Amino acid sequence: MDTDVVVVGGGIAGSALAATLAAAGVRVVVLERQEFYGDQVRGEGLWPWGVIEAKRLGIHDALLEAAGGDHVEWLVDYMDGDDPAGAEHEPIPLAAMIDGAPGALNVAHPLACRTLADMAAAQGAEVVAGVDRLEIGTGARPEVRFAANGTERHILCRLIVGADGRNSKVRQQAGISLERVRAAHLVSGLLVEELDIYPGRDVAGNGEDVFMVTFPQAGGKARLYLFYRDDRHAFNGPGGAERLVEASALAFIPRREQWAKALPAGPCRSFRCDDTWTDRPYVQGVVLIGDAAGYNDPLIGQGLALALRDVRALSEALLGGSPWDETAFDRYGTERAERLRRMRSVAKLYATETIDFGPPARERRAEIQKRIQDDPALLDGPLAMFLGPDNMNPEVASDDFHDRYFA
Ligand SMILES: Cc1cc2nc3c(=O)[nH]c(=O)nc-3n(C[C@H](O)[C@H](O)[C@H](O)COP(=O)(O)OP(=O)(O)OC[C@H]3O[C@@H](n4cnc5c(N)ncnc54)[C@H](O)[C@@H]3O)c2cc1C
Repeated sequence: MDTDVVVVGGGIAGSALAATLAAAGVRVVVLERQEFYGDQVRGEGLWPWGVIEAKRLGIHDALLEAAGGDHVEWLVDYMDGDDPAGAEHEPIPLAAMIDGAPGALNVAHPLACRTLADMAAAQGAEVVAGVDRLEIGTGARPEVRFAANGTERHILCRLIVGADGRNSKVRQQAGISLERVRAAHLVSGLLVEELDIYPGRDVAGNGEDVFMVTFPQAGGKARLYLFYRDDRHAFNGPGGAERLVEASALAFIPRREQWAKALPAGPCRSFRCDDTWTDRPYVQGVVLIGDAAGYNDPLIGQGLALALRDVRALSEALLGGSPWDETAFDRYGTERAERLRRMRSVAKLYATETIDFGPPARERRAEIQKRIQDDPALLDGPLAMFLGPDNMNPEVASDDFHDRYFA
């Protein structure tokens, strides 16, 4: 046995797990495909329940420092542009969602990955960057072959953890397939700079045919995501970034003219917002975490927090003193499947409400707001994304709740 655990993928989930295990004395090797962490257009907004998860893992302070030292306390929701002054006067209080979470955390994904990988290395994990030609062997004697820095390597281990993201090679090679709900909407994301008109506030709003969320970052930068139905053109190809900035300026939000002056500061990428999952994120010798094990619709921004929750669940299973066998992984898989089921339902609720455009959709949203006035428990629906699967009202994930919400 060359090492205890080989973690494939040094992203959020993989690096956080490696840091946690290495700190407990487990021998860990992390294999990361990228030579240097670059902008892959991934999540950069960690909601309050994810902040709590980061604290529980002991990685919060490092992420906060990488984020520039501030939490985001407010989310301004300009939906339908009916009352922009009211939206600014009464923003959604992210700092008041969960005890112990002083807000949300916006941190550039490459910076977060590097911070966590450095933590893993500081705890004694071997972190190998620029990994290519990865091949895994499952079973009682798991093994990994790969090339890095011009040499071929072969590692025997007790366990392989697949943390290599949504297009996971480990998942494919282990023969694990994902269930999928196909989404009727897409997302395009872009980092922009020279957009410091909403300092310290997340912003959501919509336009004639797009829904937009922005997460401000240190240095006047912001991560911009546009969601739209799949009958609309995507923002891929030449000029995509500029078209994205232009489209976001059309949203029903104030100060649109300043918005149009934002400058693209990274690649523009588009994704279908499918929800995927598996009830068995493992085979003998291999277990999956993070997006590799199935991912939630990016619309409700749960992926980072879910990845950290996976790290907590799996590290507790591995460090609890029980054998690293099917029983331990089955417990993790069952618990994870329920978490993903809940957040899938929350995403469906939110997508049905927001990714719908034109006058009838506007009217329906206005009716929902009236219903919430009469029945404040309905607010549990949209609040669930900030609270997460363990703290939310579980009834939100039921057909009954959806029926009441949409009446
Ligand atoms: C457009 C978009 C917007 C999103 N917005 C949000 C948001 O606002 N908030 C939120 O919480 N979540 C959001 N998410 C989800 C979030 O980005 C992911 O859930 C999260 O990054 C998952 O972490 P991970 O470590 O599992 O995967 P990743 O962060 O994707 O990391 C995977 C790592 O594995 C590496 N890798 C891949 N293949 C290999 C290989 N063969 N060998 C070795 N290494 C490999 C990659 O280089 C990468 O470093 C968004 C996702 C998308 C697509």
